[in-house]
Parts: sequence; structure tokens; C-alpha cells
Amino acid sequence: MADRNPANNGAVSHVRFSPLGQQFAEPDAIFEELRELVRSGDFTLGKPVGEFETMFAAAVGAKHAIGVGSGTDALKIPLKALGLGPGDEVLTAANTFYASVGAIVEVGATPRFVDCDDNFCMDVEQLEAAITPRTKALMPIHLTGDVADMPRIMEIAARHGLPVVEDGCQSLLGERGGTQVGGWGVATAFSMHPLKIINVWGDAGVVVTNDDEMNRKVRLLRNHGLRNRDEMEIFGYNSRLDSVQAVVGKWIVRQVGDIVTGRAEAAAYYDQGLAGIPGVRIPQRQAETKHVYLLYMVFAENRDGLLEHCLERGIEAKIHYPIPLYQQDALASFGYKAGDFPVTDRHSRDCISFPVDQHLSRAEQDYVIDTVRAFYQGG
Ligand SMILES: *Cc1c(COP(=O)(O)O)cnc(C)c1O
Repeated sequence: MADRNPANNGAVSHVRFSPLGQQFAEPDAIFEELRELVRSGDFTLGKPVGEFETMFAAAVGAKHAIGVGSGTDALKIPLKALGLGPGDEVLTAANTFYASVGAIVEVGATPRFVDCDDNFCMDVEQLEAAITPRTKALMPIHLTGDVADMPRIMEIAARHGLPVVEDGCQSLLGERGGTQVGGWGVATAFSMHPLKIINVWGDAGVVVTNDDEMNRKVRLLRNHGLRNRDEMEIFGYNSRLDSVQAVVGKWIVRQVGDIVTGRAEAAAYYDQGLAGIPGVRIPQRQAETKHVYLLYMVFAENRDGLLEHCLERGIEAKIHYPIPLYQQDALASFGYKAGDFPVTDRHSRDCISFPVDQHLSRAEQDYVIDTVRAFYQGG
């Protein structure tokens, strides 16, 4: 039925969420370098890891980039480096992805939450009131690819003497007021999971920092706390960026500027096409931020009806996230209850995400836009 939609030239009947098949359609250059790596046997913290780190640091405009095993580890390791543990609280956003809170819990600390605003980032108005004597760090999340109000968060952090670890996993190359994500916190985490802005062939993460001591500690912590082959300075983890993934990372980090530009263009096209459809509300776009659109998320009336309508017509729309994180069973012991974060709750009911990436065609986007319009017009 979907393929008979009159407005799509009869061409589009399916819109996939992930562009990975297209992203890696011509992998020969990667295989070439992998062949070299395999011959060298340089698998553990091999040459490609350092090369990738230099390229990533340059892309983000940071002094140091350290490759680790995942985006989750890229949050956990800086928290550990700050000495956080049992009894310490980390303030983060109530609407984030599981891993942000998982990282806090992994070091033994306790997550505490602040509600978000309609740009999906921490509501800075509520931040200061949530700080207690047990608060030992702030973890703002740049959710969807937009950028939290870091100038104000840094001001509050400074007033309370709190370190800031940014979760940049969804906002690689995001900017606010001309400063890139990674430019505020003592450390910032990025992920190269297959669903992020740049992807490797499995899991990988990167910590960036401008702080030499943080750089030193993260490098120790990712590799058993080893100062060198024979000397163990502290207890750490086995969370090295895999040399094989670093080869893929080198190939894709070169493209990150174009990837982000492609995403922003696709998002602008949706903004234009969806504007004026009754039932859809586009988040207010912020002039001071460069949004990189890991997710293209809008508010929709009868969201569940729209989701079903889209899925039935081959559009892989998604919900980020249907159960507010703070209400998940795993977090029950932290004592929050439904209704504690009303904006997060509303987003879990009203928001829908459409595919948005550099490989999406305008015909596919027209199909999405027409399908949404038809839903609200009873078509
Ligand atoms: C994906 C993600 C992470 C974790 O990244 P992984 O590489 O999957 O461990 C952390 N925080 C946010 C906001 C994310 O989207």
C-alpha cells in the first residue's frame, strides 16, 4: 500500500533507520590497511590507535584524545580518574540513554537527576537547586546532537567547585557559541557505536580532554593502571581501543565534517517539510548551537498512532526513549517515582524520531513527510 503513495513518484516504500550499509559500501581501503595490521600483529595499542587518536583530537579541537572500549567506558574512566566512588553523587539528566547512568553506577557512585527542557538537554534552571553536599560531579548530556547550555553549567559548576564530564556520545562536532562539544568539561566522552555519528565495526569510545593529568590517568586506567610494561601504578580496566577498530575509525573520522553537514541538511529539509502539519511540533531551533542531529526528534499528537502508521508504511521511525530512564526497574533503588520529572515523562509520550543521515535521499524524506501529513489528514 505504501508504495502507492501518490506523492513519492512511486519509488519509495521503505525508509531504513541505519545508513551503515551505505556508509561501508566500499570498504576496500579499510581492508587494505587491515591486511597490513594483521601481517604486523600489532593488535594491542598498535600504531593505528595513536594515529586515530591524533586525528580525533584534531577533529574535536582538543589537546588529547584517548581511545577506549566503548562510549560507556569513555564516561566511566574519567569519573574514576576524578576519584568518584561510593557515597558520591553525580548529577545528570533524567532523560538520558542507559549508559550515562550505567557509567556512574559502575564506579560505585549514585546518579541524581535534573529534568530536561524541550531541546532535550538538562534544564539549567533546575540544576543549582539539585546540587547537594554529596554532589561531586556534573554530567550534562548533549542529547540528540544538540548542545546543553554549557556556559551556564560551567558557571554553576565553578561556583560549587564541581568537575564536569560531558557526555558527547550523541553530539560529535556539536557546538555552542563557537565552542565545540569537548571544549568545556575536564573530560568528554564520545562513542563510535554503529548508531552514532561516526561508526566502527563494533564497539569503541573516545575520551577527549585538554587536561594533561586527566589524559595521563585515563591512559593508565584504560590499560590495567600500567605505567609501562612492568609497573602498575593504580588499579585500572582492560578498556583499550581495539587496533582493528582504530583502522576503521581512521577511515571514518576523516569524513566526520561531511557526515555532520549531511545530517544537518537532512534535518533542515524535514523542518521545512513538517512545518505547518497540524499535530507536529518541531523543537525550537537554537541560534547559538550547532546541532549535529544524531536524532531527528519532533513532538507529535497521538504519537503512538503516528508511530504505527509510519511503521506500517515501511518507515523505521523510533522512540527515544519510551520508558523514562529514571523509571526503569534497574534504578528503583534510587527512590524516584513516576511524575518526578514531568518534561522527561511528556517526551516519552510525545516524541518520535525519524531517520536522518547523510545517505538519506530527498525522495525518502518526502515519503516520510507525506506519510506524516497523511496521518493527520486522515489519509
Ligand atoms: C550511545 C551513548 C552512550 C554509550 O555509548 P556506547 O558506545 O554504546 O557504550 C552514552 N551516552 C549516550 C547519551 C549515548 O547515546
